[in-house]
Amino acid sequence: MTIRTRFAPSPTGLLHIGGARTALFNFLFARHHGGQFLLRIEDTDRARSTEAATRAILDSLEWLGLHADEPAVFQSTRAARHTEVARALLAAGQAYRCYASAEELREMREQAMREGRPPRYDGRWRDRDPADAPAGVTPAIRLRAPREGETVVDDLVQGSVRVGNAELDDMIILRSDGTPTYLHAVVVDDHDMAISHVIRGDDHLTNTFRQVQIYRAMGWDEPRFAHIPLIHGPDGAKYSKRHGAEGVLEFRDQGFLPEALCNYLLRLGWGHGDSEILDRAEAISLFDLDGVGRGAARMDFAKLTHVNAVWIRGTDDRRLTDEVLARLRPRAGLVVDATAEARVLSLMPHLKERARTLVELADNAAFLALHGTVPYDDKARTHLTPVGAALLTAVAVRLADTDFTPAAIDQALRQQAEASAVKLGQIAQPLRAALTGSTSSPGIDVTLAALGREESLRRIAAAIDVARG
Ligand code: GLU
Repeated sequence: MTIRTRFAPSPTGLLHIGGARTALFNFLFARHHGGQFLLRIEDTDRARSTEAATRAILDSLEWLGLHADEPAVFQSTRAARHTEVARALLAAGQAYRCYASAEELREMREQAMREGRPPRYDGRWRDRDPADAPAGVTPAIRLRAPREGETVVDDLVQGSVRVGNAELDDMIILRSDGTPTYLHAVVVDDHDMAISHVIRGDDHLTNTFRQVQIYRAMGWDEPRFAHIPLIHGPDGAKYSKRHGAEGVLEFRDQGFLPEALCNYLLRLGWGHGDSEILDRAEAISLFDLDGVGRGAARMDFAKLTHVNAVWIRGTDDRRLTDEVLARLRPRAGLVVDATAEARVLSLMPHLKERARTLVELADNAAFLALHGTVPYDDKARTHLTPVGAALLTAVAVRLADTDFTPAAIDQALRQQAEASAVKLGQIAQPLRAALTGSTSSPGIDVTLAALGREESLRRIAAAIDVARG
């Protein structure tokens, strides 16, 4: 059997991390088995679907590197086919026309509520003579669902799940206005797209019972189903905005690498030994559905941030530099030119050791995109004293004659510390304040080397002026 999976988002909002995890599992499962991963945009609800949401979903998947193997299918373009299948069910006696008016359906609902029963269609047109059809009413088409026995679904994550057929009513597959219902459209599309495995959030589990009835009525092969638990917040409640970022692109903007987000989402509720850091190739080779747990997955931001830091350290300097420059460019007061770029690139091996997000990385690199002087934060100012000025003056003299490699700089600073009878740190702190405007940066030798002699000396001179008051 060819394994074909699909991700089927409704474009009514952002792609949330829960959806991203569903897409990832579908992608990995298909790749693991040498099959195909497809994308279907479920835009049947014209009132709630927007082009902006479709765009955001496509951008999110692109950013996550979850590329579909075939062009995306837009569900709204397939309405004629959904209608055709509804009519085929009608012709086969597996569906029937229902002329119940909105008023009757409302009464049915209210009655059920009064009697404490779940609202269910009572099947009043199921066996009624079509000759009774009221004139001028366009009927809806309902599935003639089995009334006895059970519908059982052998779910790859949830195990065997069942419902008594008496619990289900005859659902509408084609509304009286001629539009297909969502549950029906999904089945027709999954069948026509030859989907072998439907992997989706467990909030769809109850839909599955109804959907398999359509497959059975059409005599179609059923796909295998795998309903994966939803993501919950750290407090155990269903994940929502109040827990933090929801949309995939929000995580991007907060400085997470797509590899890190995918890595984290994979490990969230899917176990494989102890290995926490997995790249795409490893994920493809290891992923299978039997590792997916049944319990809700709890979002843990500290862990995600840790995974991100590991990925940042392992990421190529050139790519990180581009990420940093893109984040620095819109910031007021910075000059993001070729000089700044060269400095960021040269200091990146050291910068990336200390940042947990790309935003932090950009914050830590911002001092490289200034020329001549830097703004000093409060802690930096504490080092710009008359004593600091004297040390900086001596350092400036020595650096004027030093080869600007980290090793030569380090040696020069040690010699100056000895000559001034202070510890190296006592020189490094005013120097760091002068160069970066802060008290934390990568090693002072590599920081000086990245800025270059001329710029370093200019910043030192400016700091001496401030230190002298
Ligand atoms: N369109 C549905 C959603 O966004 C998914 C349907 C499915 O996967 O069958 O929740």
